[in-house]
Amino acid sequence: MGKILLKNIVSEGVVSDILISGERIAAVRPSGHCKDISGGEDCEIVDCTGKTAMPGLVNMHTHAAMSMMRGIGEDIFFHEWIDRIWDVESKIDEEYVYHATKVACLEMIKTGTTTFNDHYWHMPMAHKAAMEMGLRPVLAYVICDRNDPGESERQKIQCRQMYEEAMTWNDHSLFAIAIHAIYSVREEMILWSVRFAREHGLRIHIHVSETRKEIEDCKAQHNGMSPVEYLDSLGALGPDVIAAHTLWLSDNDIRILGERGVTCVHNVNSNLKLASGYRFLYNELRDAGANICLGTDGCASSNNLDMLETMKTSAMIQKAWRDDPSAMPLDELMAMATANAGKALGLEIGKIEEGALADILIVDTRNYNFLSPGSFEANLVYSAHSDCIDSMICNGKFVMRERVVPGEMEILAEAKKVLRKII
Ligand SMILES: [Zn+2]
Repeated sequence: MGKILLKNIVSEGVVSDILISGERIAAVRPSGHCKDISGGEDCEIVDCTGKTAMPGLVNMHTHAAMSMMRGIGEDIFFHEWIDRIWDVESKIDEEYVYHATKVACLEMIKTGTTTFNDHYWHMPMAHKAAMEMGLRPVLAYVICDRNDPGESERQKIQCRQMYEEAMTWNDHSLFAIAIHAIYSVREEMILWSVRFAREHGLRIHIHVSETRKEIEDCKAQHNGMSPVEYLDSLGALGPDVIAAHTLWLSDNDIRILGERGVTCVHNVNSNLKLASGYRFLYNELRDAGANICLGTDGCASSNNLDMLETMKTSAMIQKAWRDDPSAMPLDELMAMATANAGKALGLEIGKIEEGALADILIVDTRNYNFLSPGSFEANLVYSAHSDCIDSMICNGKFVMRERVVPGEMEILAEAKKVLRKII
């Protein structure tokens, strides 16, 4: 079992030594303590003087393999955009998803994301890519029958097969069920998917209330119910549900999401770019009891997977539209990108403490962005960019050291070859 000792690294304001043993954090102690940590003979000692440790960021809603679809639908509305996406997606295959997910993982490593909650086709290829890159993925089988009963039956069979396959993975990835959205999945199939997920203890990942049109169409189709009310009427909502967007909500929707303990994922850049909206009801959802996290969405709408950018924009927009600079304070913002995700996924991630999984960012603070009396968190979110992330450990192993990710140029060169498939 490999051991790593991070020496003289700042953790929560204290110069500390952090011992990692296997996939977990074994000890965190102030440096120079009379009982200094020793990892023993087989331990790699890394001098981290001038650097700060923080938990790896968690991207709670993405479509990783869209990493090579940047810019394919600019300056158009959501419904025009999604038709274009579905057209491009008709051309993709396993090889495309494998290489595009490797590109996404490369970007996530460089920008500080250790765990990503993915929602995409050809999921076994995303699994292969994420394992090779060393990240912690949550990989969903995507249910999206586009209201075709024949497709529903095909997806039920394939979903069961993928579940069986995922049970043989024997690694640190998680399998989940994704229901694309209420407008793209038949009611009978939503019910089947929820039942299947709950029978097997799987998280349910779904797009909910992303656009105003989705609300209007849902009300017209389902006796005046909003998407949240409709899903609740089906018994679909609970603490195992990760609802992406939840942007257009009534007071009753907020009450339901809070009472059911749903995790709501705010994807600010995607929403802004597609002009889907910007008034994410953070305070209201938090006060109602919902668990709130952050995501980037896929690169076809947000154009990157940078969680620090997402954190900054989320807070700035919230402060601006509420006329309130105290909206979305820094400690809550940090929790949304780390510990709240651990809660949503039932994983001991998002914290640096003994016993937690060792998903750690080593941030280099020896630059002008951090040369200030401000807190580490303030400098990280509002001043720095993701290139301050010097190194990353995921599941107890280095996946980037001093900004170098093994095989970076080869990953890009191989991916470039399959890009032609979607052009
Ligand atoms: Zn999405």
